[in-house]
Amino acid sequence: MSSIKIPFLAAPAYSHTQAWVDALQKNLPDEQIVAFDSMNDEDKATCKVAIVANPDPAQLKQLPQLQWVHSVWAGVERLISDLADTELKIVRLIDQQLATTMAEAVLAWTLYLHRDMPAYARQQKQQLWQPREYLRPQQKTIGLLGLGALGEVAANSLLRAGFNVIGWSRNRKEFAGVECFAGTDELPVMLAKTDILVCLLPLTPDTKGLVNAQTLQALPQGASLINFARGAIINDHDLHIALDSGHIGHAVLDVFETEPLPTIAWHWQHPSVTVLPHCSAPTDRETASLIVANNIRRYRFTGELPVTVDRVKGY
Ligand code: NAP
Repeated sequence: MSSIKIPFLAAPAYSHTQAWVDALQKNLPDEQIVAFDSMNDEDKATCKVAIVANPDPAQLKQLPQLQWVHSVWAGVERLISDLADTELKIVRLIDQQLATTMAEAVLAWTLYLHRDMPAYARQQKQQLWQPREYLRPQQKTIGLLGLGALGEVAANSLLRAGFNVIGWSRNRKEFAGVECFAGTDELPVMLAKTDILVCLLPLTPDTKGLVNAQTLQALPQGASLINFARGAIINDHDLHIALDSGHIGHAVLDVFETEPLPTIAWHWQHPSVTVLPHCSAPTDRETASLIVANNIRRYRFTGELPVTVDRVKGY
């Protein structure tokens, strides 16, 4: 067993630290996985890798030999910002189970919009018995913003359900059955063809506020929006206006700039908004700890790090 301990660091109020330590320890029997709070000065002086979930950056700075951190979350914009003044390498979670869970959420809420469930809920309140026109999935186009680890699996699940799928990324992709657009110039072309826009982008300086008045206006009248990425990718004020005018028919929002969403936020009461509590794709501790364990084991044997986050690109 290695004498160099590997700490798990999370925000002070986080209640699952011990569960993570236990799950990681089970998959790394030759290592000593510990909560940061239980490390002594010698442990801190020798530590080279840490496993993190929204850690306090001041605690990471107490580890002078630290070379890299492995996040158990897929989105790392906060870590990038918190560690901006360090040289630490950042590894994010890439987990097939997470992608499958996200694809399930994308399909579920796409079907919710496709089958007009918000409208039927409104009709029920009015005791209004009125079937709406049925359209086949083949008559709807789902536009994915982001064709990365999550976007690719979501695209395949939507294709299997019969939808037309188009997608947008920084570099052009080639996915069978998906019309792929790339770069800022091609975004309006993609938006003009989209009935339901699904955001699966990372939050970076380039994507902050990307879904704004101009972007929303480029969507057809009555298009819908699903945001399962990060709240700040959407300009909240512009979305509110687009929903009030009816240009955007409905928005399913799982992520917000401030979480939990404050009780005074307009979204809670808006008839064209579905509020979800950041639940579209939670990290699965069992699969994630196995992936983290394999990455750390490889590093211990070969000295090689997994793919690290590009701090300039921001993801
Ligand atoms: P990823 O593998 O890094 O994929 C990101 C995709 O976005 C890539 O296709 C990338 O293009 C594209 N992209 C990034 N910046 C762009 C830009 N400026 N213009 C055009 N395309 C751009 O990330 P992922 O694993 O799919 O995760 C995406 C995000 O989902 C995470 O960052 C996280 O914030 C969010 N998330 C949310 C939840 C939740 O429960 N709500 C759960 C997990 C993750 P290239 O392929 O060309 O690089």
